[in-house]
Amino acid sequence: MVDVMDAAKRSALMSRIRGGDTAPELLIRKGLWHAGFRYTLHAAKLPGKPDIVLPRWNAVVFVHGCFWHRHSGCAYFRLPKTRTAFWDVKLAQNQARDRANIAAMESLGWRVAVVWECAVRTNSQVAVKKLVRWLQRTETTLELTGTSSGPLNVNRRILVRNSSY
Ligand SMILES: [Zn+2]
Repeated sequence: MVDVMDAAKRSALMSRIRGGDTAPELLIRKGLWHAGFRYTLHAAKLPGKPDIVLPRWNAVVFVHGCFWHRHSGCAYFRLPKTRTAFWDVKLAQNQARDRANIAAMESLGWRVAVVWECAVRTNSQVAVKKLVRWLQRTETTLELTGTSSGPLNVNRRILVRNSSY
C-alpha cells in the first residue's frame, strides 16, 4: 500500500489537530457536562496540561489521539511509511513525555484517566459512562481503549522497541 498522505501534509494536519480541541475530547467533555460534571480545561500549571480537570473529584482526564500518543497495538496507530525513522523517534518522545506527565500527576495526588481516541470512536457514550463510574469511585487510575478498559499501568514497557535510539 502507498502512503497517500505525505509527511509534510500529515505533519500540518496533525499539528492542527494537536493544538486545538479534538473531536474525541469534545465528545468526552460534552458527555461529562451532560452528566452533571463540571471541569476546567487544559490546566497549564499541571504536568502535561491535562485536557479535562475535575477539582471536585480530584481527577484529571487526558484524551489521547492514537497517532500522536502512539497507541501501541491500536488500529488507529500506524507509523508513517515516509520519514519513518523521524516519526519513530518523535512519537517515542511523545510517549515518554506522556508517561512522565502521568507519573507526575499521580505523585501530586491526582487521580488520572487516559481516554484513548479509539475508545471514543468505538462508542463515546460507553466511554463517558465508564469515566463517570470511575470518577464516582476511588480507583486511582483508569485507561479506556477501543477494546478494553482497566487501571492504567504507566510502568508497562511500551518503549522497548525504540531502545535502539
Ligand atoms: Zn487507540
